[in-house]
Amino acid sequence: MSLLLRWRFFVFLAGIMLALLWPLHALVQGYYLDSLSRKNAQTLDLFVANLSGTLKQYEVLPPILGRLPEVQNALLNPQQADAREAANHLLNRIQQQTRADVVYLLDTSGSAIAASNWQHARSFVGHNFAFRPYFTEALAQRTGTFFGLGNISDKRGYYVGNAVYVDEVVVGVLVVKVDLDFTESLWGAAPERLIVTDNRGVVILASEADWRFRASRPLNATELAQVAQIRPYASTEPQALALQENQWLRFEQTLAQTGWTVSVLVPRQALAVQVRTAMAVATASMLALLLVLGLLMQRRRHYLERIALAADARRELEQRVEQRTLDLQNLNQRLREEVLERENTRQALLRTQDELVQAGKLSALGVMSASISHELNQPLAAIRSYADNAKIFLQQQRWPEAGNNLELITALTDRMASIIKHLRAFARRDPQASEHVALQPAIEDALALLANRGHELGVDISRDIPDATLWVEAGETRLRQVLGNLLANALDALAEQAQPRRLELITRQHDGWVCLLIRDNGQGFSEDALLQAREPFFTTKTSARGLGLGLAICDSVIRSLGGRLEFANCAQGGACVELYLKPIDSSVNLQAREDGV
Ligand code: ADP
Repeated sequence: MSLLLRWRFFVFLAGIMLALLWPLHALVQGYYLDSLSRKNAQTLDLFVANLSGTLKQYEVLPPILGRLPEVQNALLNPQQADAREAANHLLNRIQQQTRADVVYLLDTSGSAIAASNWQHARSFVGHNFAFRPYFTEALAQRTGTFFGLGNISDKRGYYVGNAVYVDEVVVGVLVVKVDLDFTESLWGAAPERLIVTDNRGVVILASEADWRFRASRPLNATELAQVAQIRPYASTEPQALALQENQWLRFEQTLAQTGWTVSVLVPRQALAVQVRTAMAVATASMLALLLVLGLLMQRRRHYLERIALAADARRELEQRVEQRTLDLQNLNQRLREEVLERENTRQALLRTQDELVQAGKLSALGVMSASISHELNQPLAAIRSYADNAKIFLQQQRWPEAGNNLELITALTDRMASIIKHLRAFARRDPQASEHVALQPAIEDALALLANRGHELGVDISRDIPDATLWVEAGETRLRQVLGNLLANALDALAEQAQPRRLELITRQHDGWVCLLIRDNGQGFSEDALLQAREPFFTTKTSARGLGLGLAICDSVIRSLGGRLEFANCAQGGACVELYLKPIDSSVNLQAREDGV
């Protein structure tokens, strides 16, 4: 999933959660409102029951008290001080027993003739209460009730009045005033507020002292006139109750017997706090859920990415292995082809080299043929003359001379056989593998083949070669061919030179090599020859004497034997050729094989 898509998904989720918060808010509010109204309904029930019970408890008192003889006697004989005093005492006793606020007795004009508080400074006795509705109602033979501020006591109270009958004639009115202040104190210090309003909407009881006698609604003219007449409140024009309705939740119940309304006001703040707490918890839970969801998604994404990476890596590896295998196959194929090609080339090279060596050999033989034929012709001519002489000696029966001639013939044939033997060793085809070859016989063979020419040129050949055989790693024929070439070149150079002509052959062993130094006192290598002598067909000689193959073949042959050839000019003049060969330990002396041509 791309980053953009993921963010979109999260914003979408957060949007859904936010959208869910509104119905949740309504639900939570409904729940708390419901539980609040249930709780307050119970409180209201209890309070109303308590208030109603209190009122009822006192409403039964006046009819009963009106039947008491002291009460009736005082009303019938208001001038008698003892009758009034008896009534005063009685009413005081009753007030104390019933815990009413004041119990008092009015005559038919509304004046108090006896009262439970007759001894108090603010005694009701002597005051007229004809303006109070409980009096007028009682005179009309109904139970008169009234809640208001006492004009003498200046204290609120609930008044209940009933007519006192003597022989079914109304002789006065007995009133019980009940103090309801304690009902307010019942409410305590709860954050909820209590108000009780009368049927004019004026607060008569309130847990908040400031709210008492405030009008919860505007009073109409009739009501205002009534208030002016009966004076239930501290003022005839009650001030409005400044209540910010939106800050309160109101729960109401009507008190049927008085027409009062009992209200419990709960600060909305309380509900808001509960709702806010619940919403905070819900939001935190949702965020936690979102977080967990996010983490899970992230883990899933990582897991999927890891799988994808692993799959990619595997695929790449497989591709690389495939490619590598293909490369290797191609390489293998190419190598096989190259090996085949090289093998073919090597074979061709070997063939060419072999043929070249052979050609060089034949060329050398061609050059040497004159010397060889001279070498062979000389003994042959001698044999002929010895044989002719021997024939004559035999005819003359000169046996000892004939025998001497035959011995000379034998010696000459031995010499010829030796020449032919050297020639065979020189001309035969060598096996390619190197052998253990004795250096001195090879030098002697090469010199023998060139002896005649050397003799003709009057070359002084000196040797500095040890007697002990020097064994080297070489091929019998190849070594002879190389030595023959080098010595022939020296004789060629000496032929160009006036007497004295010298040829030196020196062997040395140093640095793990056996070195044969061939030094002549000819004109030496020309500058070109020093640089190009190894190159095939480089020659400074006439075509009759040289093809320019000699040193090229020598160099190639010696290198194939693991040795090396070096050319230089001597300080005192003449050529100086060094032939380096690998020595063989004389303890593993192997006899060279004699192969046929
Ligand atoms: P070729 O003998 O047929 O000329 P080589 O390969 O044997 O061919 O010799 C190449 C050349 O090296 C010769 O032509 C000659 O110029 C030079 N060279 C070889 N040996 C000697 C030597 N001993 N003294 C002077 N020059 C030599």
